[in-house]
Amino acid sequence: MTANTSPTIKFNRGGTAAEQAEKEANVSSGGRRGPDYLSLKEDGSSTVLRLLTDHDDWIWVDQHSFVPTKPGPKDAEKWPKAMTSVCRKDRAFAGHYNDCYICDAKLKNSFGKLASPRVRVWALAIEREIVRGDGSEALGGPAKQGVVVGIRDKIDEVDELGADGKPTGVKLQYPRILVINQPMKGFFSHFKALHGLYGTVVDRDFSITRSGTGTDTEYKIVPIDPVADPATGQNLIKPGTPIWEKYLQAVAEREISLDAIVADKASDEYYARFFDPTKSVDKDGTITTATGNVANFPTASASGAPADISSDLRSKIQMLGTPQADAA
Ligand SMILES: [Zn+2]
Repeated sequence: MTANTSPTIKFNRGGTAAEQAEKEANVSSGGRRGPDYLSLKEDGSSTVLRLLTDHDDWIWVDQHSFVPTKPGPKDAEKWPKAMTSVCRKDRAFAGHYNDCYICDAKLKNSFGKLASPRVRVWALAIEREIVRGDGSEALGGPAKQGVVVGIRDKIDEVDELGADGKPTGVKLQYPRILVINQPMKGFFSHFKALHGLYGTVVDRDFSITRSGTGTDTEYKIVPIDPVADPATGQNLIKPGTPIWEKYLQAVAEREISLDAIVADKASDEYYARFFDPTKSVDKDGTITTATGNVANFPTASASGAPADISSDLRSKIQMLGTPQADAA
C-alpha cells in the first residue's frame, strides 16, 4: 500500500476521511503543526523527493488558485493575500455542499481573471537530500570529497505531546513529510510518463528542479537509480521494505491524512475564514454571519447525497482544523 488510499473510496465518500480530519484537527489544536508543502520558490531551485503516494492513489480535485482573501481579523499577525481552495462543487462533495462562494460570487483571481476551478493533484512525499563527501572518513575520505556518496531523508522535528495534549518538551524526529499540490501539466504529467516506464513512481527518488516563474513555471523531474543493497542488488526502499514501513509509520504517528488535508480546503470554516465576507470564524472555530448569528448552512438535499454517507458528515467537515496559511 502507499500512503493514502484511493480517493474514489475514502475521499469521495468521505466518512472515514472526516473522522481522520477530526483527529487531525485535535492534534493541530494541541500545538503540533501539519506537514509543509513542496515549495520551490526560486527559478532553478531543486530538491529530491521520494513519493509515498503512487500514481493510482493520487487525489485529484477541482481547485480555485490564487484567490484573493478577504481582510483578516484585526489581531491577525500574518494574513495571506491569496489562498488556494478546493471547489465545493467538486463531485467528491456531491450532496454535502449546496454552494461554492468562489464560484457563486464569480470571484477573480490575483491575475484579474475569473477564478475558475481547475484540476489539481495531491500526493505525499518524503523530502530527501543528496549527500556529498566532505573529506571525512565517515563519508568516504578525501577521495570522495565533493562526490555524491548517497541520499538520505531530511528530518522534521515534532513536539512530543503528553496525555494532556500539551508538548512535553521532547522533540521527536521523523523523516520530513511533504504535501504536494500541483497541476498535471508541468508537474504530475512527468511522473505519469515515468509511471508508464517503470510501472510505479515509488521505487526510486526523483530530483525536482524548478524552471521559470509565475505561469511559465515548469518542473524538470529526473529519476535517480533505486537505492540498492550493494551485496544483493535488491531495492532497499519500495513498498514492503523496512524503510518504507518506517515512512508509513511516520505518516501514521503524525496523524497525517491527505484526504483530511484536501477536505479541509473545502470546509465551511475555511471558506468563512478566507473568502466569504458575510461570515466570520472565532477562535474556537464557530462560524458566525455578519449580523452575529451562528451561521445556518443549508443542509444538502437528501436526494443528491449517496446513500452510504453518514448523517453527521457535514458537521464533521465543519469541524475541520485550522488551515495552514502557507498553502497557496
Ligand atoms: Zn467553486
